[in-house]
Amino acid sequence: ATAAPVDEFLGKLPPFSYTPPPYTGPSADAIINTRKEFLSPSNSMFCLYKNPLNIVDGKMQYLFDESGRRYLDAFAGIAVVNCGHCHPGVVEPVINQIKRLQHPTVMYLNHAIAEFSEALASKLPGDLKVVFFTNSGTEANELALMMAKLYTGCQDIVSIRNGYHGNAPGTMGATAHSTWKFNNVVQTGTHHALNPDPYRGVFGSDGEKYARDVQDLIQYGTSGHIAGFICETIQGVGGIVELAPGYQSAAYDIVKKAGGLFIADEVQSGFARTGDFWGFEAHNVVPDIVTMAKGIGNGFPLGAVVTTPEIAGVLTRRCYFNTFGGNAVAATAGLAVLDVIEKDNLQENASMVGSYLKGRLSQLKEKHEIIGDVRGRGLMLGVELVSDRKLKTPATAETLHIMNQMKELGVLVGKGGHFGNVFRITPPLCFTKEDADYLVETMDYSMSRM
Ligand code: PLP
Repeated sequence: ATAAPVDEFLGKLPPFSYTPPPYTGPSADAIINTRKEFLSPSNSMFCLYKNPLNIVDGKMQYLFDESGRRYLDAFAGIAVVNCGHCHPGVVEPVINQIKRLQHPTVMYLNHAIAEFSEALASKLPGDLKVVFFTNSGTEANELALMMAKLYTGCQDIVSIRNGYHGNAPGTMGATAHSTWKFNNVVQTGTHHALNPDPYRGVFGSDGEKYARDVQDLIQYGTSGHIAGFICETIQGVGGIVELAPGYQSAAYDIVKKAGGLFIADEVQSGFARTGDFWGFEAHNVVPDIVTMAKGIGNGFPLGAVVTTPEIAGVLTRRCYFNTFGGNAVAATAGLAVLDVIEKDNLQENASMVGSYLKGRLSQLKEKHEIIGDVRGRGLMLGVELVSDRKLKTPATAETLHIMNQMKELGVLVGKGGHFGNVFRITPPLCFTKEDADYLVETMDYSMSRM
């Protein structure tokens, strides 16, 4: 492949008036060496690029490396930084809070946790108004699964193949990707239904047929009663897979008949990312439990489970407590995030820029055979690459190559899917149409020179 005209491209990066302060910390090589010696190898495996980036500054939809070079961030720290990096509307209230009080625990009264739970509940429909704070998405899903088991008195959980729900025993059980599973971790009691994936699934876009598999699975794999059903409303780690139309509402009815609770995992799809505030809103269901993390704190470690007073009642049978959950600083960040989403019209922007970008990516599909599928909603988009459109042969090596090439041209996208052949495009929700154009141009250029 010919070398990319990096300077020419970077000249077209949409203008942005921020210059980061000079960086005086250790070099990328020094950090790599320290990581190799002292960090778990599983962390090093996570580096996205051949030459890992040393990211030292962030401002809105941009990241800056140690030399001050600017990158358009189309991954947002894995769908986390929805408001934009270091958004002053989040940073300033957090600094004010941290100067005053860092951590009271829920054993004392403090306004931050109370106000945030009320504000969060106001974002949810029906009777979903009792909030438990956690520190991560894994912890939120573990708690949701446990509540479903306690509430129903059943052990069996149904989840969907290709879903990702976390890395502790219960959530690793619900997760259905070999990549994320360890042999010796107890993961019993979880049944994995067919993935209602319109592109690769056996029933194409027929959501009702996939839902019948949930029915079968309950009938033949359990006593007929289950604790619950958990699903992402758009699969994220699995490669931005939208569930086939009609699936969620049909599965909902089946799960309810089997006495189970419907758990919506909104860890990636929540907080305006899909153009709706929650992913489940597009599917005509009101879940019994909603779990969230990532975008909830714009980068502050925070997660939450929201459910009904009746279901939440199961936890009062014993003491249930979490040291950091709803910490004053994290709760302040969470409140600020809700405020910024509203003031900056991020939900509308995600919907508008998302459909524009999806349109442009679909045009790119007409031009490049390697694009097998373009999908997703709002600013949660996926581009699946295949070396043969008919056979849908995953173009894994090409995906990596193009991703590295786009980085050279100043654009950072994520990748995922079982075969590692799907670009995950989940930028901060302040992403503009000009940013979308630049992303598409760099992708086009990189694909043209494969
Ligand atoms: N659920 C979904 C849908 C996720 O994408 C993730 C993480 O990627 C999790 C749960 C786990 O969240 P965490 O990594 O914060 O534990």
